[in-house]
Amino acid sequence: MNYCTMTVNELSRLIKEKKISSLELTLSYLEKIKETDKNIRAFITVSEETAKKAAAEADAVIRSGAGDIHPLMGIPAAIKDNLCTEGIKTTCASRILRNFVPPYSAEAVARLKGHGAVIVGKTNMDEFGMGSSCENSAFGLTHNPLDPTRVPGGSSGGSAAAVAAGLVPYALGSDTGGSVRQPAAYCGVVGMKPSYGRVSRYGLIAFASSLDTVGPITRDVISNAMVYDAIAGYDPKDSTSLQEHSEAVADKLKGSNVRGMRIGVPYSLIESHTDITVKKALSSAVKHLADQGCEIIDITLPDPGLTLAAYYALSSAEASSNLSRYDGIRFGERAEDCSTIEEVFKKSRSRGFGPEVKRRILLGTFLLSREMCDRYYKKALMAREMIINGFSSLFSLCDVILAPVAPTLPYRIGKYSAEPEARYSEDIFTVYASIAGLPAISLPVGKDADTNLPVGAQIIGRAKDELTVYRAAYALETAVCGGERRCGNDI
Ligand code: GLN
Repeated sequence: MNYCTMTVNELSRLIKEKKISSLELTLSYLEKIKETDKNIRAFITVSEETAKKAAAEADAVIRSGAGDIHPLMGIPAAIKDNLCTEGIKTTCASRILRNFVPPYSAEAVARLKGHGAVIVGKTNMDEFGMGSSCENSAFGLTHNPLDPTRVPGGSSGGSAAAVAAGLVPYALGSDTGGSVRQPAAYCGVVGMKPSYGRVSRYGLIAFASSLDTVGPITRDVISNAMVYDAIAGYDPKDSTSLQEHSEAVADKLKGSNVRGMRIGVPYSLIESHTDITVKKALSSAVKHLADQGCEIIDITLPDPGLTLAAYYALSSAEASSNLSRYDGIRFGERAEDCSTIEEVFKKSRSRGFGPEVKRRILLGTFLLSREMCDRYYKKALMAREMIINGFSSLFSLCDVILAPVAPTLPYRIGKYSAEPEARYSEDIFTVYASIAGLPAISLPVGKDADTNLPVGAQIIGRAKDELTVYRAAYALETAVCGGERRCGNDI
């Protein structure tokens, strides 16, 4: 049997029924990684020995028959390389952290491990999460498994590519302005950004702390909810963690119907900002939801230019502050050939950071400078308030919002190398949920007729209402796949 095209949900059943052992499963994924990852390059590190050990431990628990077997028990997973993994290198795809081995695991990773998950490796990304194509990695780029001449998206491009290529059944990513949702869309898989604070940021290497979130990437919606259930919930180690009880969602999806759900669709923004393939896929998604009894409502989202500007201003300002700790002394690889402390700072940072990270640090430092702070940073904070209020009003008209994830299909490697700002504007549809702290999921809803490349749609919900987001996504997936629960590509 080819386990590598199965979903977490399917594998979980096989493990529980003892039809397959965790070690068998882990070995088959490790084999697949060895065979195919040289062409995709989704992984920065493959943790083969630790994985085998964890698999053997999971098998011992399953064999012992003691207690309930968690749905993720014994199932392999990949982790984005900005989430700390105890004893496994965590580089953030940066030269400055290329030899960093954390002494502890991020809370989300620790929760997975606590449930018997098997970590097979760490995935490639844009350095420190800054980018949307995986081209800004100090370790080289990742290819889209559906077309190796194209980008897999980013910054969690390695995680999405690994799931799409069947190198793991699920992966964790991080999403600050779209980094789980957009690569999921580009690779034809499902990616979820929870509400801000829903999943602990403890051990997630900070990019922009008021926006950073951790979320799962899977082949189908129900598996995504299963991983979400395992990582969501209050963590006292993260001061911004939501204290409310986090409702488990996976068990509530089957059989739930969406009749009467009000779906807001920003028609005019879609019209002006997407290409024809994305438009077509979105309009068929709208039709699917309408056929299932949803009420479709034409809405206008807050100003897109303002939202994008606020996102890039706030995220760069926070990044410039967060990344000041990499000075070669407190954190980060130290330049050794220096005679003064200033030289250590200067050389370590100049050599350690790539061009995009430097651009953001410079921009963020400028925005926070005394002369510019009121004009830009504080204005961006005010814009954020307005956007949050805008969404509050919209959510009195509708229950969720259906929007594109990206304006176009996955583009060719190198397309934006000389135009960073043009790349930034591609984030137009994902930064909304980030700025407003809302849960949003990306799932495949169509394919381009000529290239067969996938198109993703995004469902955005009210803050803390992950359940409604998952319910709408599950209904849409059922309609798109015609009951076949796997939209992922069988490659
Ligand atoms: N593409 C966005 C950026 O470059 C988002 C990145 C992210 O979510 N980490 O900032």
